[in-house]
Amino acid sequence: MGNKKQEKCAFCGREMKELFSSEIPGVYICHECVEAGHRIIKENQIKQQKECNIEGLELATLPKPADIKAFLDQYVIGQDEAKRYLSVAVYNHYKRVLQPKDDNGVEIEKSNILLVGSTGTGKTLLARTIAKLLKVPFAIVDATALTEAGYVGEDVESLLVRLLQDADYDLQKAQRGIVFIDEMDKIARKSENPSITRDVSGEGVQQGLLKLLEGSVVNVPPQGGRKHPEQEFIHVDTRNILFICGGAFDGIERKIAQRMNTQVVGFDAQKKAQTIDKNNLLQYVAPQDLKSFGLIPEIIGRLPILTYLRPLDKQALRNILTEPNNAITKQYQKLLEMDGFQLTFAPDMLDYVVDKALEYKLGARGLRGLMETVMMDVMFDLPSSKTRKKTFEVTKDYAAQRIEKADLYALAAQQQER
Ligand code: ADP
Repeated sequence: MGNKKQEKCAFCGREMKELFSSEIPGVYICHECVEAGHRIIKENQIKQQKECNIEGLELATLPKPADIKAFLDQYVIGQDEAKRYLSVAVYNHYKRVLQPKDDNGVEIEKSNILLVGSTGTGKTLLARTIAKLLKVPFAIVDATALTEAGYVGEDVESLLVRLLQDADYDLQKAQRGIVFIDEMDKIARKSENPSITRDVSGEGVQQGLLKLLEGSVVNVPPQGGRKHPEQEFIHVDTRNILFICGGAFDGIERKIAQRMNTQVVGFDAQKKAQTIDKNNLLQYVAPQDLKSFGLIPEIIGRLPILTYLRPLDKQALRNILTEPNNAITKQYQKLLEMDGFQLTFAPDMLDYVVDKALEYKLGARGLRGLMETVMMDVMFDLPSSKTRKKTFEVTKDYAAQRIEKADLYALAAQQQER
């Protein structure tokens, strides 16, 4: 290709200073026509992608609850009850989506889900993994970022913008997606009695979420942000969007205990009281407790599937390091395998990392930070090392040296902020 002067573009016919010559002598094309051609090719590619995206789900290929759980098992450690609840709810939800319109009037209701469990126990991971299995668009939003329309903050509709973005603005696809609303407990109203003064951050947002959760057509500004009257809206029907909400609901155990204590009176009270597992009261969580905590009854009614996640114990944390398909140790092994190294982790080194996570209350999220602290030097040095020995074992001593130098309190503070 060379530049020619005062020749014409064979496409637009204009005389341009900058022209690209072709294989055929005397035939040129200008940069504007090249760009236009490039744009057309791109647009066609996007259109084709969109067309094959609409294919969607089919009942015959829809994974059954046991298949969904088996898939979740590959990525999420423990949390069996939550996995079973979720698997059934998700399966039913997509059966409902695929239900023929004239089905003798039996209308399957929407099965939005509420996951209650401490932070870092796998709530987001569960929701994300389900979206991965079903290959549906997925968006995570933080309920605390949402505010009632007209106040500073994000409108409730903005969560649908994220879903649309994840669906590449394919409306049909977005309308079958999954939205994970985190920190649902943070929008609880402060007292159980409806407030006389408006509660901007809490109750107002709950009210705003209602129409989305139950299913209605919502006007969404395409670029997100605030609504402007002159803006064209995308009309998103939320009827078939599955909402999975999550929250730590710190202190809900007290409400559960109160309710159970008042229930446990009378005839076989003593027997009942004995069978209550006081160490894990969350497993008894019921809609009344959410109401006592400050969720409005309408919201509770629209989240009919309620389940809980257990705190992760030592064994669970240990398994998280090595077992999931994308376990962090497997990721390090894969990365160094690409440099020709075989990396191994001594079992007592992994125990040590778990002990530190427990000692500093870093939880599952902190495991990554700890492993990064340990692995920094290895990941820096090994790829350029000229050693003939192509194996490396991360021992407990090696890990301890690095972790002792690190500021774990700072790491713990970082976790809290997230
Ligand atoms: P939550 O939403 O409950 O606050 P997340 O699902 O975001 O917690 O978990 C944070 C991280 O911790 C995840 O990305 C994952 O690496 C790890 N993790 C937490 N719980 C589990 C679990 N049960 N199994 C595997 N990994 C987990």
